[in-house]
Amino acid sequence: MAYWNQRTVAKRVSCTGIGLHSGKPATLTLAPAASDAGITFVRMDLGVEIPARNEFVVDTTLSTSIGSGKARVSTVEHVMAALHGMGIDNCRVEVDGPEIPILDGSAAPFVCLVHEAGVKVQSAGKRYLVVDQVIELRDGDKVARLEPSDTFAVEFTADFGHPLITNQAFRVTLSDRSFEREVARARTFCFRRDIERMQAMGLAKGGSLENAIVVDEFSILNPEGLRFPDEFARHKVLDAVGDLALAGMPIVGALIAVKSGHAMNQALVRKVLADPTSHRVVRVTAEADAPAIRANVPALVVPNGQIA
Ligand SMILES: [Zn+2]
Repeated sequence: MAYWNQRTVAKRVSCTGIGLHSGKPATLTLAPAASDAGITFVRMDLGVEIPARNEFVVDTTLSTSIGSGKARVSTVEHVMAALHGMGIDNCRVEVDGPEIPILDGSAAPFVCLVHEAGVKVQSAGKRYLVVDQVIELRDGDKVARLEPSDTFAVEFTADFGHPLITNQAFRVTLSDRSFEREVARARTFCFRRDIERMQAMGLAKGGSLENAIVVDEFSILNPEGLRFPDEFARHKVLDAVGDLALAGMPIVGALIAVKSGHAMNQALVRKVLADPTSHRVVRVTAEADAPAIRANVPALVVPNGQIA
């Protein structure tokens, strides 16, 4: 019998950086939250709390934004991926502006923040969304499909019709160790040809080689090159983990995605949540004598047959 307790961060930790699209500086703080509170973004400058759930998604243009009333927080997907990948169920993500800092364009700085805070094991058992039926979205050659699986796995195929990013696939079974080792460091990327267009739309104002991979016709412009040969597909996995985290709880299922993006990922989550026959919500039994602080416990992998 497996016992998995909910987790939060053990103390407040902060970092500061600029928003990729707004170019504005912001300070982000991860703070502990109670059992079953889930992840909540808090606009400290406005005093508004926005639950990190699919129903609060207000925009999916190049990044995922959530909002409540006039308050919004954009580019939530990388910090969501880090929290989800590290098995954090409950956390207040406080930010003093409209956009989460982009930092180095990956989830690694947020993983470091979780390590700095430490992980507090809570008394309640974890809740999981267990996929029972295949749910699929198709749009031309784009696919996003959730299938039943014993674990949380993500497979992404990226194809941008570009010599460096053609039919690039990456598949990973998520535990906090595999997320940190294989996914967290993959950076966001863009094409040089798109930068002017994005900036005309008022986006990517904070973009630079410090926080994104920039690709031109034939080459990577970043002097340090890539962190993984398939960093593009790995980043798309990272984005998908962050987007699926807006289901509000860890998913036990496999995401198969081809050329999907934030909009399609959120539409898939919406479709699953709207269809009660597609999934069950299962709360596992908490471990009564769980140590209060325990790092590096794989929290996402649920062995077959132990949660039904
Ligand atoms: Zn991203």
